[in-house]
Amino acid sequence: MSQVLDSPLHDFRNSFGGQVITAGDADYDTARAVWNGDIDRHPAVIARCADTADVSSAIAFARAQGLEISVRGGGHNFSGAAVADGALMIDLSLLRQVRVDPETRRVRCGGGTTGADLDSATQDHGLAVTMGTISHTGVAGLSLGGGFGWLTNKMGLSCDNLISAEVALADGRVVRASESEHADLLWALKGGGGNFGVVTEFEFRVEPVGPMINFALLFWETDRRADALRVARDALEKLPKNAGGLLAAGLNAPPEPFVPEQYHFAPGCAVIIAGFGTAEEHARLVDPLRAALPPLFELVSLIPYVGLQQMLDASAIWGSHAYEKALHLDGMPDEVITTLAEYLPRKKSPLSFLPIFPLGGAYSEVDEDATAFGGSRGARWVLNIGAFSPDPAVLAEDRIWVRELWEALRPYASNSGGYVNFMAEYEADRVRTAYGPAKYERLAQIKTCYDPENVFHLNANIQPG
Ligand code: FAD
Repeated sequence: MSQVLDSPLHDFRNSFGGQVITAGDADYDTARAVWNGDIDRHPAVIARCADTADVSSAIAFARAQGLEISVRGGGHNFSGAAVADGALMIDLSLLRQVRVDPETRRVRCGGGTTGADLDSATQDHGLAVTMGTISHTGVAGLSLGGGFGWLTNKMGLSCDNLISAEVALADGRVVRASESEHADLLWALKGGGGNFGVVTEFEFRVEPVGPMINFALLFWETDRRADALRVARDALEKLPKNAGGLLAAGLNAPPEPFVPEQYHFAPGCAVIIAGFGTAEEHARLVDPLRAALPPLFELVSLIPYVGLQQMLDASAIWGSHAYEKALHLDGMPDEVITTLAEYLPRKKSPLSFLPIFPLGGAYSEVDEDATAFGGSRGARWVLNIGAFSPDPAVLAEDRIWVRELWEALRPYASNSGGYVNFMAEYEADRVRTAYGPAKYERLAQIKTCYDPENVFHLNANIQPG
């Protein structure tokens, strides 16, 4: 672990508005913990910032002390990039204020806001912006890498709705990136991750959503998994703009009240459809699916939008030991379904599964070069293979399962682009491949402008040009 001299640390503590935490402080272990329980790292200093000035002073202190800097938004990244041994962690968990302007349909939120914070404030006005499917994920990491969710078809990615951002730069400046100021930086923040500075405030466009939405979950047992995957694919490929979907392949039925008790933990596949239009529109999506292959059980109901946003939280509790790899697919041929059906029963943990998102609608309408987002707008599916277990030994077995299934699916993957937020490991060549040569080069030039010394490198790193 790096040593920090007592006297500068003392001065830093005294001048800092938030909280400076080091080993030996009572809350050191909770403050260094991230969502992925498999990550156990010991930063030299945790700077829990109270405002933007604190962020700048933490950057300056770390640089003066020769400490690497990691940035914690929601702390949810699979890779544990928010925390590093011997580094200074800029912890934004206090910067969670959300201000909604219903007149202009805009929302501003702090750099440590979670999806749940944002959803709850925007829904007070019947508004929303695309957030992820687990509500304790950080808005920052999610939207800086892209941001998929139930609203992707309707509104595009979270980053597609980013209007402006306040950014604390490596050299001590604080700038606002918007269409009119630092437009290159705004472009880079829409998918280029945490490479360019620390975002202390985001401003997003919001749209009317909910407060109630049409929900459907249909579940088929594992013996019918190949048929279930086929009917699910056919239904999700046709989703209109006003609906979101998820194919949960290899999911074990949760012990929820709507699941008949004899099926609790039964392995299988589920389709979830969230309809943002009328009940009739929703029925036109769900009825043919049910008719094509009657499910083992189902839940079809009107639910609050915030309930939808939190529905899967229990499947990804804080402290889960986790690993994942992802692929983009331009289509889902039967060969992919055969491969999935072959590999699904081989997972060891009942919690491991594949969340597979269909892509279309507003996502596909965004021009390829309009944002820095790595995944191609031509892709039709983003397929994650997730290993989750409270037991590290079982995770180790499912990590192998993830890698083997990923290799088996690679021949069918889209060549163009990938999603940096679904990487549990940041190999330099995969980051380059994720963006493709042209986007990577453009990002590298912007990186040279805003962070020429690569101070912010504990991430899916873009090397300065
Ligand atoms: P952190 O771990 O805090 O940060 C990750 C990286 O983001 C940091 O290294 C840093 O480089 C950067 N960063 C964070 N905050 C800032 C900031 N304020 N300024 C500058 N850089 C910053 N993604 C989706 O798109 N859709 C989903 O539905 C989805 N579901 C997920 C479910 C689970 C269980 C998990 C583990 C992840 C999921 N993700 C999803 C991926 C998620 O988007 C990324 O893990 C994202 O990085 C999490 O953001 P965070 O702020 O919580 O992460």
